[in-house]
Amino acid sequence: MSVDYSKGAAYMNGVYVPISEAKIPVGDWGFTHSDVTYDVVHVTDGAFFRLEDHLDRFHKSLAGYRLNPGVTRDQMRHILGRVVALSGLERAFVAMLSTRGVPRIYGSRNPMDCDNTFIAYAVPWVDVIKPDVQERGAHLIVASVPRISPKSLDPTLKNYMWRDFTRGMFEAHDKGFDTAILLDQEGFLTEGSGFNVFIVKDKKVITPDRGALEGVTRKSVLDICPELGLEPIIGPITYADLMDADEVFTATTAGGVMPCARVDDRIYGNDRPGPISAKIKETYWRKHKEGWHMTPVNYADADN
Ligand code: PLP
Repeated sequence: MSVDYSKGAAYMNGVYVPISEAKIPVGDWGFTHSDVTYDVVHVTDGAFFRLEDHLDRFHKSLAGYRLNPGVTRDQMRHILGRVVALSGLERAFVAMLSTRGVPRIYGSRNPMDCDNTFIAYAVPWVDVIKPDVQERGAHLIVASVPRISPKSLDPTLKNYMWRDFTRGMFEAHDKGFDTAILLDQEGFLTEGSGFNVFIVKDKKVITPDRGALEGVTRKSVLDICPELGLEPIIGPITYADLMDADEVFTATTAGGVMPCARVDDRIYGNDRPGPISAKIKETYWRKHKEGWHMTPVNYADADN
């Protein structure tokens, strides 16, 4: 009987397995110390979006964490294509990870005693903010917990250290909001749990200059702005700026451009996605359809 990859396919320890069989050992520092980095690229209509940008950022994160999984960029490209091909998914969430691994010497506390892993998987599409919430405009809370200091955790290296985000999400749900965004310890806006944040003021589209991942979707939004007559700005954003904005939206690989309708007790426009956010969202998906930065998946690779 052939293996069923329809719920997703993974690569780990040199073999391809159905997603349900992709498990890491409890002794892996990726689990015990959150000593892991990752990246996520999406596939729509059978093609990767900005794959090379995601590989660039993954390599930056690997270097920043001093992780070396011993897999070349070409091999990564091939493995990522193959997990998608095996799954047969034309719309997918595709992750690449490297964990520190299990120490070769039992009980060692030396990170150099670990063989770093490379793991990749493709699963069906994920939206970090559900489509119906995106439609009505998300309700965000500014969490009472600040984002961890960039002096302790470099937010430009992608990581799973989500204690502050998770606390924010609990707070949001407890208070009836969809999700949370966090300020840094000086009170400037950073990001949310898995997405960048933008404010729109007049014809300016502004995203924080600190405390945030340099998102690939964020880069796409900044690229799109000039063609819509909007000025893209990477700059400091205070709580007062957020309250004074015309519109707010968030952006991520797992969802795209996601308009918001409320932040705390501020209601934007008519409590629906604002017109500029909606236009950027529409342009972002239209450009996907036109093949902008798309790399087709070779589905025949599943048979090799
Ligand atoms: N910020 C954080 C903390 C994230 O985890 C992510 C994506 O997962 C983003 C921002 C958005 O980045 P991208 O657009 O590259 O998906």
